[in-house]
Amino acid sequence: MLISHMSTEICKLMSLNQDKTNRRAFFVKLGLAGIGSVLVSKWMDKTSWAPNMGSTAKHLIIARDAYINRIKNSLDPEINVKARQGLPGKKFVLVVDLSRCRNARKCMEACAATHQLRPDQFHLNVLEMRDDEHTAPYYLPKHCQHCDNPPCVKVCPVEATYKRTDGIVLIDNERCIGCRYCIAACPYSARSFNWFDPKDAELYKDVPYNVERNVPQKKGTVTKCTFSADCLRNGELPYCVRACPNGVYYFGNLYEDSVTNGTTGETVKLSKLLEDNGAFQLLAELGTKPSVYYLPPRRNN
Ligand code: SF4
Ligand code: SF4
Repeated sequence: MLISHMSTEICKLMSLNQDKTNRRAFFVKLGLAGIGSVLVSKWMDKTSWAPNMGSTAKHLIIARDAYINRIKNSLDPEINVKARQGLPGKKFVLVVDLSRCRNARKCMEACAATHQLRPDQFHLNVLEMRDDEHTAPYYLPKHCQHCDNPPCVKVCPVEATYKRTDGIVLIDNERCIGCRYCIAACPYSARSFNWFDPKDAELYKDVPYNVERNVPQKKGTVTKCTFSADCLRNGELPYCVRACPNGVYYFGNLYEDSVTNGTTGETVKLSKLLEDNGAFQLLAELGTKPSVYYLPPRRNN
């Protein structure tokens, strides 16, 4: 476009009377057009993004191949295979009773200790909520929702994050390349990036990596709640569920329609618990199909 504009301009000028004034105008315009074209070509060099897109895609493919080879040659491939399949006949659900949460944060403490988290990190966070200026605040513990339709899994370019048959969404940190697409895709802000060396890095340096427990934590990768998949494999309730002193958490199997309270040990019918208490899911309208249900803070004044 610039070149054709210049040619038109030159032709126009050449057809003018060749008096002194017009010759001067011609050379001034020609000079300006020349400077302009040099500046534009320099700008195009700097802003051309198509070659950069190509190199990013190439980089991702090379990184993916390297990580796939790495996982194939890992010392104990059986652990990763088992952790990918999930527990047969299970579809895990968590129920959180908001009317019982007193912000004791024992669940957060147990989680942080288990997953080698630094003080500034958490897999589950207890949020202070207030629906109206005239009502008292209540507390909402927020985990990864282990979505049945998880946006985080869809965007991972190396299949480091995946959903199992039992509904648990995990991250394989041996495979994660730290692109953080999954963090951007999660509408619940359930994931965080390991910007620094993990807590007690020296202590954990010889610990074999466990996908289900998500330790040792690895700098440059993403971390999040695992629903305590390592406990579930051993027939135990999750760490946070057992640590709560106030009976906030129920955990169980959707296929058996039963959940057990982590504090009282009482097992109840899941469908009845949800129906009787008007249970809801966070951002259900997004279609993510969370595996976490909340019972409203009914006793809140
Ligand atoms: S809550 Fe976020 S991280 Fe967890 S499964 Fe859903 S989209 Fe993924
Ligand atoms: S940062 Fe997330 S999307 Fe990227 S590789 Fe790791 S798990 Fe996958």
